[in-house]
This record gives sequence, structure tokens and C-alpha cells, in this order.
Amino acid sequence: MGNPSSVHTAGRAARRILEDSRDAIARRLGGEIVFTSGGTESDALAIHALGHNRRLLIGATEHDAVRAARADAEILPVDANGVLDLTALETALSGSPALVCLMAANNETGTIQPVAEAAALCRRHGARLHVDAVQAAGRMAVDLRTLGADSLAISSHKLGGPAGAGALVLAADWDGPSLIVGGGQERGRRGGTPAIPIIAGFAAAIAEPAPDLLPLRQVAEQAAIACGGIVLGGDNRLANTICVALPGVAAQTQLIALDIAGIQVSAGSACSSGKVARSHVLEAMGLGALAGEAIRVSLPWNATQADVAAFATAYAAMTARVTRRAA
Ligand code: PLP
Repeated sequence: MGNPSSVHTAGRAARRILEDSRDAIARRLGGEIVFTSGGTESDALAIHALGHNRRLLIGATEHDAVRAARADAEILPVDANGVLDLTALETALSGSPALVCLMAANNETGTIQPVAEAAALCRRHGARLHVDAVQAAGRMAVDLRTLGADSLAISSHKLGGPAGAGALVLAADWDGPSLIVGGGQERGRRGGTPAIPIIAGFAAAIAEPAPDLLPLRQVAEQAAIACGGIVLGGDNRLANTICVALPGVAAQTQLIALDIAGIQVSAGSACSSGKVARSHVLEAMGLGALAGEAIRVSLPWNATQADVAAFATAYAAMTARVTRRAA
């Protein structure tokens, strides 16, 4: 595989793959593409470049890729479903120029944010808007132009492509500094030799039509509700994500019981000790003890009715066991 910066034949072939991939992704998302190593780097680059000399305003349920990017970020509240408080955003925007970071959909609950409304407020107040679309892309319509944002972050592995590539999608060039400098790749906006095989897989994955997972999600949710589960995050959610709390039962207990039955779910975020850390997303939603009692079930793009039936059986067995133990 040639280096796309080389002028020899192999280099030019690599350059063609790179530019075809760039065009395919740009057509889908409606902006100019800067290839990165993934969602985390795309968020960091947006905050570094578009947020240069600006205040940073972020939603309380943003991913750690955004939360950890700058210590001086101002946190905007969300409601009980995890939806951004637009009145609080408007109040915060009345200060000096800001970059606002808002996710299109949440990774723990699937809750979809009012991005177009936030974009209109940002425009009115001279603020920029970066949208973390890492979870949303491939699962709902995402287009920089219709959202009215200045940039979008996406990640290959979240679309079913190989891990190791992502993109920052831009409405216009920026005036801030780059995060990684080097050989002038990506028109000087991100140094380093692009990972051509991974980027080609990324472009192939984004071209795949999104499966309709909503009927399967509804079956899984009804099964959990019938056993005492409480589905969190409101009605306007991604079709693949279920966040369900079981009152009185620690998330880690549920996770282990389901894992033994062959169902892999997650809870909060895995921290380095291997324990389940409490979810900042559910805490921001004001859920109290339930924040430590909720698991996240993600349906993969190729989920089947049999998978959902297996989940329903395992969930019922798990709840029966914990209820017996408590009696
Ligand atoms: N943003 C969101 C909403 C995510 O869910 C993730 C990963 O799960 C990231 C950013 C980070 O993306 P990556 O794993 O590609 O670095």
C-alpha cells in the first residue's frame, strides 16, 4: 500500500482511495472531511481548533471525549430525559463568544438532542456549534447542512467499519490551531500518514443502509418492562439503544448475571479497576439511586428476533433470581 503523499504510482493509487473515501463520506454528511483516528480525536480537534479563544459550553450528558477535553468547560443542564435545556443554553450564550458541544444522540440512553434548535440559538448569538454524532451517524439522519452546525464528529467503528479512523466534518475552514502538526497532511489540519485501509473500510461502512431496529427494540423493552424494568431517556431515542433500570438491583449485578447467560450489556462506563463507574449521564438526569441500577442494551446492526428473545429470557431469569434472593 502506497503512501498517499508519494508521487509514484503506488502513492497515487493510495491517494485515489483516500480521495474517493473522502468524497463518499462528504456526500453523506454534507461537509468537508478531515480524517482523524476516531471520535475522540475528532471531538478534541473541534474543541482545539473551533473553540480557540472561545468559552466552551457543553451538555451535561456529553461523552468523556468532550467532557475531558478542557477543564474550564461550562456545563449546561438537561431534563429528566437527558434533553438539553435550551433556555439555559440561551442564557449562557449571552456572554462572550463560545463554542457549544452537543451530542446528536447519547451513547448511554440513545436520547436525541434538539441540535437544529441549538444551532439556531448559536447562530443568533455568534457562537459555533460542534456536534458529536459518533453514536447517531448510521442510526438516524445526520447531515451538517440540515443540522446547521459548524462541525460534526464521527467514528468508523461505530458505523460497523474498522476501528482506527474517524472524521471531523466541517462547514467552513477554521482559523484556530491544529491539534496534530507534522507533514501537512489533510491540508495542514491533521498531520500524520492517513490509515488508508481503515479509511476505505470507513467509507464502505457509511454507504450501508441503516437497518430498522425499532421493532426489535420495542420487543426487548416490553420484555424488560414486564419484569419490572424502567426504560429511561424518553421517547425520542435511537432505535438501537435501550437504557433500563431495575430498582434495587445494582447495575453490576445485572451485568454479570446477563453475561453468564451470554448477553453482553454495559452500565455506566468501565473504569480502569474493572468496576462499573456511576453514570454521569443518568446522574445529570437527576435519577438518584436509579443511576446505579441501569444497564445499557445496544442492538447491533445485524440483531435478530432470536437475539431479542434470548435477551428477554435471560432478563426474566435474572429478575426472578434477584427477586427470590431479596424475599
Ligand atoms: N462520542 C461518543 C458519543 C461516543 O459514544 C464515543 C465512543 O463510544 C466517542 C465519542 C469516542 O469515539 P471513539 O471510540 O471513536 O474514539
